[in-house]
Amino acid sequence: MPCPFLGSLNQAFVRNYGSSLMKQYGNYCPMISRGFRTLGQDETKCPFIQQNSIISEAPKEMTEDIVETVRPYKYEKFFNEQISAKKRDYSYRIFRKVSRLAAEGMYPKALEGQENRRVTVWCANDYLGASRHPVVQDAAISAIKSYGTGAGGTRNIAGNSQMTEKLEGEIAKLHNKPAALIFSSCFVANDATLSTLARILPDCIVYSDAGNHASMIQGIRNSRATKHIFKHNDPNHLRELLSKSPDGVPKLVVFETVHSMSGAICPLEEMCNIAHEYGALTFVDEVHAVGLYGKRGAGIGEERGVQHLIDIVSGTLGKAYGNVGGYIAGSSLLIDTIRSLAPGFIFTTALPPPVLAGSLAAIRLLASEEGRSLRSKHQAIVRYFKLSLLVAGLPQLPSVSHIVPVPIEGADKVALVAESLMKRGHYVQAINYPTVARGEERLRFAPGPYHTPEMVDSLVAALIESFHENNISFDQFMINGACRECSLEYKVDMMRDEPFKFPMQAA
Ligand code: PLP
Repeated sequence: MPCPFLGSLNQAFVRNYGSSLMKQYGNYCPMISRGFRTLGQDETKCPFIQQNSIISEAPKEMTEDIVETVRPYKYEKFFNEQISAKKRDYSYRIFRKVSRLAAEGMYPKALEGQENRRVTVWCANDYLGASRHPVVQDAAISAIKSYGTGAGGTRNIAGNSQMTEKLEGEIAKLHNKPAALIFSSCFVANDATLSTLARILPDCIVYSDAGNHASMIQGIRNSRATKHIFKHNDPNHLRELLSKSPDGVPKLVVFETVHSMSGAICPLEEMCNIAHEYGALTFVDEVHAVGLYGKRGAGIGEERGVQHLIDIVSGTLGKAYGNVGGYIAGSSLLIDTIRSLAPGFIFTTALPPPVLAGSLAAIRLLASEEGRSLRSKHQAIVRYFKLSLLVAGLPQLPSVSHIVPVPIEGADKVALVAESLMKRGHYVQAINYPTVARGEERLRFAPGPYHTPEMVDSLVAALIESFHENNISFDQFMINGACRECSLEYKVDMMRDEPFKFPMQAA
């Protein structure tokens, strides 16, 4: 006869917590409490069982049998299989122990490994060294002293600090938009904005560039809106897809200006114009362009004088601005809508005071004359590096920006070359799947204004040795002076004299 009291509880729960249940709930049960009173027996055992000799405890084999049926899923085994698969295809990631140095004269050096060996860093996205600039550091330190290290909660709960509003005002001004909104990162900004917008706009259709960053892909996926993918930076394909779209339906066209892994720059004006021709809103990620292009560092939109064609711009505070966090800027109503409806904005702790103050200082710094001078030094060293690779006969993908990818096919090979470079005092991270497609592995270099020509010479010499050491031939990526993959010619008049031209951009 099942116990009418305990019978209503989940069996596994009763099995696991039986003795404490007896103690805790026994007094409520007429059977058990009477049993306790009359028998005065062990309170952890059911008095019904104690009284009836015909009812004995289940034999051990039966208990084992029962335990067997609820044996938990083998979580650790599953995780082990996942990791083993990553190791087998060489896409398992090992983070290097690298501490970048920020003291005067140290940047872009870092301490590496257990022995704290000094190496030169070539892959940081702190592109202009803003993270170690004294003005940015001082702003962050003084904000900590005045307001502490943490925000104290979500903006709804902890309130909007004056610095938050100042920073959003500065970002809006930078992008010539009425309003801006900051998030904990640009991954979150892209995901939260796209997932919310494409979800709430009725029957929204999203047109997404094939090369889009994971944050945008995630946002679009999360919205569950209908999605069409157009070929990377291909306005013709975008037009072809849009021309089939229904009238009067909301549409979003989503792409990046500077591509994070190839360094390609999109035909921004053309893509925005096509989007608007078909009544779509443009969502443009300027993550690898803000701080680096344009008179005030507002990005490719500013450099090409087409900021007004971007309806929603997203950017990061974590790369050229040397802090952490992300943002969007756009119309006041759009920003208010995302502020009011996006869970990724609402339900998370606000950016802390040192980050707000540091970011504000960095944006102002890079919009100033000093920022322009850093940008021109940046472009000069990138040009010198591209030229040096060309002269050495080393491969490089034809990038028109500050990102210089050196292709080395095979996750194992690219890791070996990165290791050889590290031995020679140069740190660059090997890029493999899922950041790029399999077969498109590369070293991604991002020289900055504090790298000297001597550092570049030393890196190129180390690259030559590392290619030889790992039996990688130099010319496998070039056919008649052009890229094997995309047929673009290798040229180094890639850098810019004002006004900037894009000689490498595919027509
Ligand atoms: N968008 C692009 C194109 C990126 O490359 C990245 C990060 O690398 C992000 C968005 C996300 O930015 P954050 O690092 O601020 O999250």
